[in-house]
Amino acid sequence: MTKAVEIKNRHILVVGLGRTGIALARFLVRRGARVTATDQADAKALADSVKSLADCDVSFELGGHRPETFMAADLIVLSPGVPHGIEPVRRARDKNIPVTGEIELAYRFMETPIIAVTGTNGKSTTTLLAGQMLRDAGFGVFVGGNLGTPLIEYADGDDAADFAVAEISSFQLDTIETFRPCVAVLLNITADHLDRYADFDGYVRSKGRIFENQTPDDTAVLNYSDAAIRELAPAIRSRILPFNMDTGTGAGAWLTDERIGFRLPDGGEGSLDCRRIPLLGAHNRENIAAAALAASAVGAGFAGMQETVGRFHGLPHRMTPVAAINGVQFIDDSKATNVDAVVRALSSFSTPVVLIMGGRDKRGGYAALKPLLPGRVKHLIVMGESAEAIKAELGPQTPVSHVFSMSEAVGEAFKRSSSGDTVLLSPACASFDMYADYAQRGADFAARVRGMEARRHG
Ligand code: ADP
Repeated sequence: MTKAVEIKNRHILVVGLGRTGIALARFLVRRGARVTATDQADAKALADSVKSLADCDVSFELGGHRPETFMAADLIVLSPGVPHGIEPVRRARDKNIPVTGEIELAYRFMETPIIAVTGTNGKSTTTLLAGQMLRDAGFGVFVGGNLGTPLIEYADGDDAADFAVAEISSFQLDTIETFRPCVAVLLNITADHLDRYADFDGYVRSKGRIFENQTPDDTAVLNYSDAAIRELAPAIRSRILPFNMDTGTGAGAWLTDERIGFRLPDGGEGSLDCRRIPLLGAHNRENIAAAALAASAVGAGFAGMQETVGRFHGLPHRMTPVAAINGVQFIDDSKATNVDAVVRALSSFSTPVVLIMGGRDKRGGYAALKPLLPGRVKHLIVMGESAEAIKAELGPQTPVSHVFSMSEAVGEAFKRSSSGDTVLLSPACASFDMYADYAQRGADFAARVRGMEARRHG
């Protein structure tokens, strides 16, 4: 299979002008393409993006898409956030105009072997950890993809690392063709983004595509406690390293509360002591197991990993402690934008929890939370567009307050809690009804908590 793709003098349309779209446009212009960039947002909203391409010969079509431009392109390249099913893309595809994505394009131009991480939850954490494990083992590593620097920006640079560890979303996998990571990690598949896929099976198929070009020389790291993932296994051609195995007899990783054990196909073994892991929750032990298997598959020894994990305190807005006020712990898990992340967050606490949920609904429903509420969640606070839907589904299980701002949520949560409790912001929803993104939502929560702390001490 050839990696080459013709770019010089071709009319190439870049769809989406965020950080990745800008990097795409720059990459393509440098290789002699005639580039048009289009975005739904208007020129005012995208003023900074346009300015950053001032030195590049790019035409802009902003504030909406012109179908004629799609029809006239030799190639259409989608930014990661752009669904491949949007109308102008569908019509172009019907006319046999090639459509590709940033990951596929970057892959075709890269020499560096790729370790790709996907899943519904835990991608960023696992990607960073695997990168750090490899770095600590002495390898030159690029870490990016959907997290931080886009792969195309790396492909446009020196492309000189030993490995590129890349976080890959399912949307990005929708447009791959030859993309073949030497290690592909699939962490979990639970209901999310059902607003963008026809059904759960469509979402599973999309995630499974990360393995489709792998050969027996490559490695697949799979979560065997996830039924949807186990079902994908027979079709995978690469060497499988499972985690969450029942026992420690085959190659892979098995997890207990005290220890994560590893065995490689060549007989190599290792283990990590969970008491020396700062990250909270069983889900993070899964992320660590997956990262360690991925790193070991390309030559990192287990010996140094305990220290790497011991130094790793995770990313902001993922189970992040904010403050303790009168013995009440406030935890910011704003990145929990789907129900499974909240299930995992709640499962991490043995203390009573006052839970703050709500935001933009993703159509997955909230029923999976029901068994976890009794005896664990003493009060539920709902806000945002989905407040009534959550209240209707979970209300009978637990007392609920409906609030209309983050400051009200924090005040109400504190009122409902007592010393020894945890107040957890773990919304199960996207943030876009009230905020630019999950980080802004988490920062607002933290600011309100700190404000309350200051007022109490002031
Ligand atoms: P992603 O990049 O896939 O969104 P993150 O590492 O940013 O993943 O974590 C997103 C959310 O999911 C956080 O709320 C985090 O606590 C939770 N989470 C992290 N790892 C897992 C996992 N393995 N299973 C379920 N939830 C997880």
